Parts: sequence; structure tokens; C-alpha cells
Amino acid sequence: MFQFYNTLTRHKEEFKPANPPAVSFYQCGPTVYWTQHIGNMRAMVLADFLVRSLRYSGFKVKFARNYTDVGHLTSDEDSGEDKMEKAAKREGKSPLEIAEHYIEVFENDVAALNCLEPDVKPRATEYVKQMQEMVQALIDKGFCYATDLAVYFDISKAKDYTRLSGQDLEKNISEAGKGDASDPGKRNSADFSVWFFKAGAHKNALQTWSHKFIFSDGKIIEGEGFPGWHLECSAMNYAIFGPTIDIHMGGVEHIPVHHTNEIAQIEAFSGEKFVHLWLHNEHLMVDGGKMSKSLGNVYSVDSLKEQGFEPLVYRYFLLGAHYRSKQNFTLEALQGAKSAFDKLRETVRDWEVSGEKISEEYKKRFFSAIEDDLNTPQALAVMWEMIGDATCPSSEKAATLLEFDKVLGLKLDEFIGKKTEVPDEVMILVKAREAARVNKNWSESDRLRDEIAKLGFIVEDTPQGQKIKNVLV
Ligand code: AMP
Ligand code: ZN
Repeated sequence: MFQFYNTLTRHKEEFKPANPPAVSFYQCGPTVYWTQHIGNMRAMVLADFLVRSLRYSGFKVKFARNYTDVGHLTSDEDSGEDKMEKAAKREGKSPLEIAEHYIEVFENDVAALNCLEPDVKPRATEYVKQMQEMVQALIDKGFCYATDLAVYFDISKAKDYTRLSGQDLEKNISEAGKGDASDPGKRNSADFSVWFFKAGAHKNALQTWSHKFIFSDGKIIEGEGFPGWHLECSAMNYAIFGPTIDIHMGGVEHIPVHHTNEIAQIEAFSGEKFVHLWLHNEHLMVDGGKMSKSLGNVYSVDSLKEQGFEPLVYRYFLLGAHYRSKQNFTLEALQGAKSAFDKLRETVRDWEVSGEKISEEYKKRFFSAIEDDLNTPQALAVMWEMIGDATCPSSEKAATLLEFDKVLGLKLDEFIGKKTEVPDEVMILVKAREAARVNKNWSESDRLRDEIAKLGFIVEDTPQGQKIKNVLV
């Protein structure tokens, strides 16, 4: 039985989807205007781990993760430039080209991290019609008003607007209001835009759609505009799943604004409860702080590869921290993860893979850690305990670890029981190196080691002689 910490209730709760075994799951996806950094990737790997865990337990998960390809301004409030347009100007491309390019980069990166494909990958620009319908319905129900610049959601009309964040509304209003001179027509500075007009700061907007909204006083507004980012997730959720979903996930920074607004809109629209379980992942910190270009510490999957770290090493690193804890990334810590992961893969090569017998004891302990609010560090500790358990036959360990890997996603099947096979051409070099070492010809020995490495093998000098391993990167 899974237990999850629900941000909405602030308790760990038993997981009870509305229509088991079906589970509907939505994760706020990337804004596709740049290469997502390894912090973003933490969110994706954690969602993947959740999907794998639920599926392993027999749930039929329908997983949707969106692409925000319009409407996300450089501030989560209503000010700033559209991120897509900013990137389009930066790179001299159209917003569509920008979206296509960065979706491809993103999909390659998550695949390299062995994340399963979501079942639905909605792009905001494909749901504009549904977004406009939602805006019109919110106007009809009296939740929205228009200024010269946008249609706003009036947060004073929302039921219990701040219940997700638990923050006090006055504080929320004053914070959201800071520096928000974006529109003097706003009734309340914390009201947020559901639809922007091609006007004011956005008069040169590149991605717009024609709209026609009718207000209760008979006023009709027609023109060009684009959706607000918060509305996008509400409309896509509704289009894919209907009014209610089982699980919604996103980063902790989304609690006070983005997710609060998603709830306000969709619940005003449908009159029903939106999300049963709100899961929020904490951030990845780098060298103890935020990743930032000016500090030169923004890493991507590619830049890790350039430094010799294959993406699965980063996945292993991520599983070492609980999703509700901040995780600190340093290259030293990643190197530590690499050593452990290499050791794991080397160890399992020597195991026998005869038989299907599983260690029920270790399996029970491993999965109860996962069912306890996805306690991945604990699950890994159980895994290592099993690996070191001399009383457990290696064939049993092999079968059990293959089960664990269905949720860990570390591709251990490529290593378990796969003894290193050394081709003849490598063996000839190894023998030559042995002779060089006997003759104390160290430069020749080093040269031969490099030759061997080029063929994909590492030689280590041990008291028992040379040991040959596959290069794992
Ligand atoms: P964005 O493209 O900025 O909308 O972010 C995509 C996803 O990555 C969101 O779910 C964010 O919450 C998440 N995210 C952004 N920065 C971090 C970070 N440093 N650590 C973990 N998740 C992050
Ligand atoms: Zn969202």
C-alpha cells in the first residue's frame, strides 16, 4: 500500500486512486525555450520513478507531461517577456522552430536517463481552442473580467484560493503585486491573466490566435492574443483527463502561484475537485546554491557526458536523495555516484543467472521503502545490503535485482551475469603489457594501456596481476 505526502493536506496519506487500477497523472513539463538543465531533469527522473513504481504494483498509469510552447512569461506573474519569443529573438528562429528544436533535445535527454515516454505529450499550442472555451466559460460564470491588456481571473471569487500553499492571502497579494505595474486596470494585483491581448507590452507578440470573448454586459472583445501559462495546464488537464485527476506533480516553486492558479481556474470551471494528490519535488542545488549562468554552474545532460559521466550515472545519483529533500550536486558527489554505480555493475557481472527464485525478504523490504513516500535512498540501502549478503546465492540476488531494476531503471540487465568477454586482439595487448611490466618498461606499459582503452577495456594492476574490465562510459 503506497503512502504519499500530499501537499494539499500536509499529511502522508494512503494512496487511493478514484478508479483503481487506473491512475491519472499529470506533471508540469518543460518550457521548451532552452536546454533543460540537470535540475529540471531531477523532476523528470522522479516522475519516471513514480510511474515505474505504480506500474510495478499493478496500477494502470496514464501519464501526461506537457510542453509549454507559448505563454510562459519570464516572471510567473503577469509581467515580462514570453520565454519562447525571447529565445526566438536570441537564436534568430521562429517560436515554432525553437519549440521543435528544444523538444528534440529534451526527448533525447530524458531517453538517455532511461525515463519512459509519457502516454500523452500535449503541446500548449495544440489546445488553444479548449483554452479559449475555458476562458469564455469562466467569463460566463463571473470569475473573469477584462482590461485593455488581458482577461483576468478574479482571485477574490475563487473558493479558498490559497489552500494549497497555506499562505496568507494578504501576503500573497502584496508579493505578487511587487513591481507589478503591468496593468493598472487589474482589480487586485494577485489576479492573474488567463488570456493576454496583443497589446501593451505584448503588442509585438509573435504567437497569437484570434479571439472573441462575450461578457455579461453584452460587451464583445475581439482581436488577437495568447493564453496565460497557468490556464494552459488547467485546459490541457481537462481535455485529457476531465475535471479530476489522481496525481499532479511539479516543482515546489509552483505551489504558491502556478498550481494555486491551476486549481482556481479548473475548479471554477468544473465545480469539482481537481487533484486528489499533489506531489512536489524539491530542487537540485548546485555547489550549495542555485544553478546560474553567471556562476558558470549550469549543467546539462550533454555537458555531463562531455565530462565523462554517462546519463545513467546521474540517474543513479538522483535516486540517492528523497524527492522531498533538496539535493546538492557537485562533480565530486557525481564522481562518488559513478564509483558506486561502476562497482555495482562490475559486481553483478560475476553472478549466476540460473533460476527465477527471488529473495522475498529483500523484495519486501525494498518495495516497502518505495511504498513509503518513494524512499529511494532506503531502497538503495536495501539493495546494497542484499549485494553484500554472502548467505544469499548469487542467482537469487540476480533474479531479485532484476525485479528492483524494473523501478530503478538503471539497465542492470545489461550487466547482471554478463561476464566480461575479452577479445583476442585485446588479450594480445594485455600479454604484451605483462611482458613490458616484467621488463620494467613503464612507458611501453602505459602506451599499451592506452591502446587497450581505445578498444574499450581498462586494465588494473592488482597483486594477482592485471584485471581487465569493460570501460563503462
Ligand atoms: P520549467 O521549464 O522552468 O517550467 O521547468 C520544468 C520543470 O523543472 C518544472 O517542473 C520545475 O519545477 C522543475 N525544476 C526547475 N528547476 C529545478 C531544480 N533546480 N530542481 C528540480 N526541479 C526543477
Ligand atoms: Zn503546470
